[in-house]
Amino acid sequence: MRKIDMIIVHCTATREGGYFNTADVDRWHRERGFKEIGYHYLIGLGGEIWKGRDEEIPGAHTKGYNSHSIGVCYVGGLDTKNRPRDTRTVAQKASLLKLLKELKKRYPAATIHGHKEFAAKDCPCFDAKEEYKDL
Ligand SMILES: [Zn+2]
Repeated sequence: MRKIDMIIVHCTATREGGYFNTADVDRWHRERGFKEIGYHYLIGLGGEIWKGRDEEIPGAHTKGYNSHSIGVCYVGGLDTKNRPRDTRTVAQKASLLKLLKELKKRYPAATIHGHKEFAAKDCPCFDAKEEYKDL
């Protein structure tokens, strides 16, 4: 078992309303030289919770933190003019919360973070640490 002490939230940095799934993200990540999709979970626009990379395999999502974290990503993160924005749909918010609660149950020592805490990026375009601090 990997030792997990962080759950890190991301966005796909795609325009709001753009429908993408794990096959798309898997393709983009392979094009960037990753072995497969870098996230462990992807939340679709309709609130779908899709599995990505196996939890037992380190992800490829947050440089320097992959070995001991789980990477969770929602589809979206940009407005129609490609500016960073919290584009989570009501269904995505509900599914993200559900998934994070479930992960916290399995990894009680893990703290929840947003990618931007570890990189000069806007990802996931909202304050995940603050929003989920009581989970
Ligand atoms: Zn990210």
